[in-house]
Amino acid sequence: MTTDTVSQSTHATVQRFLSTPVGMLIGGRRVEATSGNWFDSIDPATGSRLTSVALGDPADVDRAVTAAHAAFDDPSWQRLAPLDRGRLLHRLADLIEEHADELALLESYDNGKPLSVARAVDVGTSAKLFRYFAGWPSKYEGATIPVSPRGGLDVLNYTTHEPIGVVGAIVPWNFPMSMAVWKLAPALATGNTVVLKPAEETSLSTLRLVELIHEAGFPPGVVNVVTGPGATVGAAIAAHPGIGKVAFTGSTAVGRAVAIAATGNLKKVSLELGGKSPNIVLPDADPDTVAAAAAEAIFFNQGQTCTAGSRLYVHADLYDEVLSGVVDRARRIVVGPGTDPATEMGPLVSAKQHKTVCGYVESGRAEGGRVAAGGGRPATLASEYAGGFFVEPTVIEAPDDGLTVVQEEIFGPVLTVLRWHETDDLIRRANASPYGLAAGIWTRDLTSAHTLARAIRAGTIWINCYNLTDPASPFGGYKESGWGREMGRAALDLYTETKSVWVNLG
Ligand code: NAD
Repeated sequence: MTTDTVSQSTHATVQRFLSTPVGMLIGGRRVEATSGNWFDSIDPATGSRLTSVALGDPADVDRAVTAAHAAFDDPSWQRLAPLDRGRLLHRLADLIEEHADELALLESYDNGKPLSVARAVDVGTSAKLFRYFAGWPSKYEGATIPVSPRGGLDVLNYTTHEPIGVVGAIVPWNFPMSMAVWKLAPALATGNTVVLKPAEETSLSTLRLVELIHEAGFPPGVVNVVTGPGATVGAAIAAHPGIGKVAFTGSTAVGRAVAIAATGNLKKVSLELGGKSPNIVLPDADPDTVAAAAAEAIFFNQGQTCTAGSRLYVHADLYDEVLSGVVDRARRIVVGPGTDPATEMGPLVSAKQHKTVCGYVESGRAEGGRVAAGGGRPATLASEYAGGFFVEPTVIEAPDDGLTVVQEEIFGPVLTVLRWHETDDLIRRANASPYGLAAGIWTRDLTSAHTLARAIRAGTIWINCYNLTDPASPFGGYKESGWGREMGRAALDLYTETKSVWVNLG
């Protein structure tokens, strides 16, 4: 089987899953919402209903927090030996790999993304993350501290890392399963229990994943999923007094609201937020390589990527060549339903996102940008996709950085291309953003590469590459792109308290 096709039996499995309304998962059981209400999950390729999902509300968050507390206090979880916790995480990674095609197809239907991306990135990354964090329970050591107490007291001082308790996790729709796993893997590796809210646009892969979590042998209540809107379910998680930490990925505006709501009981807060990342081309770069990479940096995942290389700064010497290369690539991208193996770019996730992105393209035109590629709906789509949320890969030449499309995160397949002359001015422009998530630098010159890497205020810098991430490498943002670093050892600190123990040996 290739990575972008799936068998008939996998199609049948996914259709079976979609054929009945999908409840939440609380205390190890699939349950309806307390209200008994449901909402539609929409297929972005057609605009029609895929299935129904339980419409949770704050009462369901209460139920989930109660289940998560019971699981946290239960010796079957709390006293589980580190190697056994690691074994559960490895078993879960195995199950994700065994069900990879099914999970990828479900993700592709629900989010709209190409099957190949769902398979390699969403599902592949999720398995890798659980495997990486499976190694930590037996290795996340405290320390013995060489203290100097008054009066020559003979003491031993050591530290331990302890789980915070019940973690609330709120995730977006762009990488639904893997964004959930970025939080679940370190939270579970460090012994917490979780109440998780997927985005209302894309609840399905998370609900299926949590079934696999139970199948792997995690005790009931260790992971609970409450589905429903952010304004009710998400807000209830952020404010809940029974939750000790909230981990959020999404927009900067909502991240700010979550941080404020969390002050009630002074929850620990980590935030992965938006970006408007500069992708910088120096005069010695290879124009063909850069054009291909710049197109991939923006159009990957329909541009719905927090790290999208959305501001392409090209040195004046290479500008025309790189622009025409990117335009050429944008025009050749095959746009279609994510579940078609030929598709390279799928629809946007929702009608709302489609409207937002089209509005930005119009503002780009109105403010003096030149639409050099795309800007509309693809002409080649079959009639059954007439109701889908498709936008062409779009390239806008921007005369200056003042355009709204250069300033604001679009979260869609819209690239702005800008010309630069002087390095100091380039650095000032690249950093003139409230965001600081990521940046790309394209050059063969080592000194220029590292000088720019030091000057750009962003959490991740890619030199002659773009969008590489790894469970072992910390990820997060400067400025309004977030608080804290997910992945790698740094993520463990987000989910633990450090205890300092003093022993009088005298
Ligand atoms: P969003 O902020 O609208 O929603 C994110 C999540 O928050 C969803 O589950 C939503 O239901 C919930 N939510 C909404 N209102 C809430 C509230 N008042 N209280 C609590 N929760 C609430 O963002 P989105 O539209 O789902 O995702 C797009 C945004 O996410 C983009 O800005 C993008 O840059 C950002 N993002 C960042 C990263 C990262 O790692 N930094 C990754 C993916 C997406």
